[in-house]
Amino acid sequence: MLSDSDLRDLLRTHDLRATQSRLAVLRILHGQPSPSSHPDVTEALASNGWDRSTLYRNLTDMAAAGILRRVDLGDRVWRYELANASTQHSGNDHPHFLCTACGDVSCLEKVDVTIGGSVPAAVNLGHVAIQLRGLCDACTEA
Ligand SMILES: [Zn+2]
Ligand SMILES: [Zn+2]
Repeated sequence: MLSDSDLRDLLRTHDLRATQSRLAVLRILHGQPSPSSHPDVTEALASNGWDRSTLYRNLTDMAAAGILRRVDLGDRVWRYELANASTQHSGNDHPHFLCTACGDVSCLEKVDVTIGGSVPAAVNLGHVAIQLRGLCDACTEA
């Protein structure tokens, strides 16, 4: 678990000022088991009075600085998670599972994929994103 002073250091080492709203956004994302979208963050911080555009800038600034990883799962929603290895679900870049029914996203630790035939060089270099789609457990039971 990162403390507030850890989060402040994280911002400072990336040349970003440790503003209250940035710290609040980091605290929210740090506590999540999966990546959060801008509306998720706005909703979680609704009582703090920051406007949507401030929080959006916080997310994009911290993603540009490398503190956050922007996760694009192809559903036109950008989600963000901490890129820092000391959080439970982040660590290195990892695959995600998107539920096609409810939109729930889970972080996956490891997925082994075997691809046959000829592929673009980027595949062999590992410069590709793997994403899995299907029904989450809750939607399978429903
Ligand atoms: Zn679902
Ligand atoms: Zn993740």
